[in-house]
Amino acid sequence: MNCKLCPRGCGINRDENIGFCGQENKIKIANFSLHMWEEPCISYEKGSGTVFFSGCSLKCVYCQNYEISSENVGQVISIQDLAKIFKELDEKADNINLVNPTHFSNLIIEALKIYKPKNPVIYNTHGYELASIVEKLSPYVDIFLTDFKYYSPELSLKYSGAKDYFQVATKALDKMIELKPNIFKDGKMLQGVIVRHLILPNLTEDSKKVLSYIASKHKDVTLSIMAQYTPYGRAKEFPEINRKITAREYDELIDYAVELGLDGYMQELTSADQCYIPKFSNKVI
Ligand code: SF4
Repeated sequence: MNCKLCPRGCGINRDENIGFCGQENKIKIANFSLHMWEEPCISYEKGSGTVFFSGCSLKCVYCQNYEISSENVGQVISIQDLAKIFKELDEKADNINLVNPTHFSNLIIEALKIYKPKNPVIYNTHGYELASIVEKLSPYVDIFLTDFKYYSPELSLKYSGAKDYFQVATKALDKMIELKPNIFKDGKMLQGVIVRHLILPNLTEDSKKVLSYIASKHKDVTLSIMAQYTPYGRAKEFPEINRKITAREYDELIDYAVELGLDGYMQELTSADQCYIPKFSNKVI
């Protein structure tokens, strides 16, 4: 397989080599568990059945899951094992939540062909996706839980090595919204799109541009503003982002979202605590 699963387009044969995401053509996961700290319509009553995939096609310098995105923590499992994990989670969770799945989307589809969950399947992504892959995933995925990180190409290049992040993420988001109109039942999301924006220190102006764009193009989308940023990974190499966000930055952005008439979830500032980061392991099953 000459991999072009993500916008990096490495084109390498992952049966013999690895590309930017650092992963072979074999599923690798670092944790699967019930997660209670997603948006209320996702964690709902029983919790979200999260599966954390190792490697990453974006690799933000401040990644909150740095051990798995860049340090390759995790265990290689078969497609059949992944299908068994889906079944196990499906029995006890309110949904199946695929965290950082982009570089394994082909194999995840195979696992979902073996076991089709009765609960919604969530594709939980950094947002740097090909619209064509979003389309391919559509029959297997019910909810796109997607980040929208940057407006500025300079910032997306500096912190995520992707100058075209905005350009690519906007096309992917258009496709997600076209394919998955929101459906809720008793407060649980059954289908739809949630756009997450993580507030970064000192980047309030860029965040405002992201929110303005969303308000101008997708005013009715369910927005989730995240305040949980904790300096992690390589953040110490970038002094301007090597701290948590301040109450002032948080308030400014929340006020701005309200002013724009955006609706959704606003994470409490007290969420900036590493206890929300699950424990990752090389032995998962
Ligand atoms: S999924 Fe990995 S190998 Fe494939 S194009 Fe993206 S970064 Fe490259």
